[in-house]
Amino acid sequence: MAHAIRITGGNKVDLGAIDPKGDKKLARSDGEARFDELAEELGEIQELLYAAGSSGVLVVLQGLDTSGKDGTIRHVFRDANPQGTRIVSFKVPTPQERGHDFLWRIHQQAPERGMLTVFNRSHYEDVLVARVHELVPEATWRARYDHILNFERLLADNDTMVLKFYLHISNAEQEERLLAREHDVEKAWKLSSADWVERRSWDRYIEAFEDAIARCATDHAPWFVVPADRKWYRNLAVAEALVETLRPSVPAWLEALRHRGEAELAAIRSTRRETQGAGNRG
Ligand code: AMP
Ligand code: MG
Repeated sequence: MAHAIRITGGNKVDLGAIDPKGDKKLARSDGEARFDELAEELGEIQELLYAAGSSGVLVVLQGLDTSGKDGTIRHVFRDANPQGTRIVSFKVPTPQERGHDFLWRIHQQAPERGMLTVFNRSHYEDVLVARVHELVPEATWRARYDHILNFERLLADNDTMVLKFYLHISNAEQEERLLAREHDVEKAWKLSSADWVERRSWDRYIEAFEDAIARCATDHAPWFVVPADRKWYRNLAVAEALVETLRPSVPAWLEALRHRGEAELAAIRSTRRETQGAGNRG
């Protein structure tokens, strides 16, 4: 059974109906053992992705404060080679970024073929925080869903696989995590007084997420709702969704590598023949 809920569009999404704890029958030790295998396989897949150089992969991480975007990056991509992996965090837009359309800063960071890029927040902030805090008029953020659909279509048409994850935590879990940060010097740096203010807009954020997920989930750029109240379960669900989505491309990547290898061998043989020919004449 898949642990993340894959959404490809059409229907309304009711996050309230999805348990942030996930499947309670799965034992933690079993989940962690499975996660170890998946993280390792993801590392192998990433190496092939890089070597083949024929597709890019874009992973989008979204979720409310404390939902575990940073922890997901640390754990799920632990076996990926940093040389072929890029993490990009999107913060409040700079004045220069604000001078452009909302996708300008995003498009520049999209992966080239061969790369695995992870977005920690993304263009979705422009239909989430921008909507909840009315940073732009309603007509502006409403028009953005279509822009996002077109943008992700463009990426997909240019060999980029797009996978989007919503880390789904409960209101109570967020409160616990915020309080825990206050009591741990090593976590307090992550605290922001704004987080407590943001919490007051919880329901409006959930509504904005439900719309973003329902409107922008497609077959070529699906959303995954990840039960994220338990960190080990969240890691397992994300790793599993990634591996199961990317694994079917492995044979094609291997084939591309084989072709390149054969072409290179043929070139080496022909160079050798020429050298030998020159030696015989000399
Ligand atoms: P953090 O992820 O804790 O480092 O915080 C980044 C902050 O940047 C969050 O409060 C986001 O809501 C904010 N942010 C990211 N993208 C945008 C955007 N396009 N417009 C406004 N705020 C944004
Ligand atoms: Mg924050």
